[in-house]
Amino acid sequence: MILNKSAQNLIKPSDATSWISCIRRTWLNKHQSKNIEIEIGGFEKLLLDIGLAHKIAILTKLQQQYEVHQADSVKHTRTLMQRGTPVIYQGQLLDEQEGIIGYPDFLIRHESGQYQPADAKLSHSENKKGIQIQLGLYRRILANHLPAMVFLGNGRTATLGDEINPLVDTFVMNMKQLFTMHEQPMAHYSHSKCRICPYYTHCRPEFEAKEDLSLLHGIHGRTASNLAAAGISTITQFSNSSAETIPDTPYLKGHKRKQRAILQARSFLTGQVFQLDSITLPKGTWVHFDIEDNPLTSSRRRHVYLWGLLTPSYSSKDFEYIWTDDETQDYTGWIHFLEKIEQYRKQYSSLILAHYSNHEKATIRKYAERYDMEDHTTVLWLLGDNSPLFDLQKPVQEQLILPLQGYGLKDICKHKDLVNFQWKNKHSGSQWSVVQFNRFLIETDPKKKGKLKTEILDYNRDDVTATWQLEKWLRNCFQTHTHFTPQSLIKLK
Ligand code: SF4
Repeated sequence: MILNKSAQNLIKPSDATSWISCIRRTWLNKHQSKNIEIEIGGFEKLLLDIGLAHKIAILTKLQQQYEVHQADSVKHTRTLMQRGTPVIYQGQLLDEQEGIIGYPDFLIRHESGQYQPADAKLSHSENKKGIQIQLGLYRRILANHLPAMVFLGNGRTATLGDEINPLVDTFVMNMKQLFTMHEQPMAHYSHSKCRICPYYTHCRPEFEAKEDLSLLHGIHGRTASNLAAAGISTITQFSNSSAETIPDTPYLKGHKRKQRAILQARSFLTGQVFQLDSITLPKGTWVHFDIEDNPLTSSRRRHVYLWGLLTPSYSSKDFEYIWTDDETQDYTGWIHFLEKIEQYRKQYSSLILAHYSNHEKATIRKYAERYDMEDHTTVLWLLGDNSPLFDLQKPVQEQLILPLQGYGLKDICKHKDLVNFQWKNKHSGSQWSVVQFNRFLIETDPKKKGKLKTEILDYNRDDVTATWQLEKWLRNCFQTHTHFTPQSLIKLK
């Protein structure tokens, strides 16, 4: 089949990313993209900049070994290939018959005279589907059996050969089907994907009108499809069901899990909070703890640039922190953090180091491994059986059903009817913090640098203050059952 050759109707390697994430998004890209403005956020821009720097570094290396020519069109690429140019930078490949266009970072001439496609990727692994499809498409257009090369972010060069062909076949076949579809494909809500999708405002009203079950926290799109097939397709219908009548489906098996899901549906419809059991918080002196780390380092090892702590009596002047200016101070920052913990251990008879999610504990474990300090006294205490670390997310997830689609710290704290704590900077977040820190790294003006540091510290102070507010909210509302009606304490069998 010869496809219409307009750019919109060509299969592009960049389609792979949206195809893996959501088929509807790919369809909308092909059929409606003119009406949608796609805004690139600060974090995505940072990734693009770092990706470009990586590509330029690979280009420089290749230029030191080979003659490299930059291509500016499909025709020019063909000419350079016919001339036997050793390395073609930013080549453009087109297979008109199949309707596929590709833009490999490099085309490297093999001793056989054929060309190998190569891309520079920040990823540490060649096993990501998106990378495999992109490189597989270049191979398909080049129509030779040479493996594609991937210059990974950790310095390794990987190769991808015929083993990726089945995945590429599926992608191409599915893309061709999407081109011919006149109606957008059916889709379910995904809390992680839809909120950051440019088509969110397009899709959300439909999900709400249909009361799609995937709008419920914990109900996967596949589960929603299976339940619809079993005759339960709306949140109202689901909330009126009993656990006994709901069939077992992937991700929704067992009586207790189904009861939780039904309460989640009731909470969604009414805004009611359900408490499954009383919450017991550990006794002691609480210090709230949150880290900021940068995954986009040159070594690709996460660097904690800020270890933030809120000590009694929890006012803004009780915020303490360990800050490092860059990755070269990584070890110093870690040691100062351990010293700070020892200081608290002596200062407070029974220390509780409260954090939200497993990230802080996992990071301490990684740092202990990184510096071969698993047997360090403070590390043994932090990670041992009598650890002072306490993850506040656990009682929330185990004992509460909240009228939320996500149970992240910001979801709970920002909600007006729940904790109702608002961050001073409305645009701040963990990715925002990474962007600010990367700006801090390259800023040379001391005044501007200081301002960036202050903004990051303010954000982290709000984070630890939020976990403190969450602690207070849990104590006030769920330890004594004073805030919510007695009926809201529901014991699951
Ligand atoms: S909003 Fe969600 S369902 Fe709609 S296109 Fe985007 S990711 Fe897909």
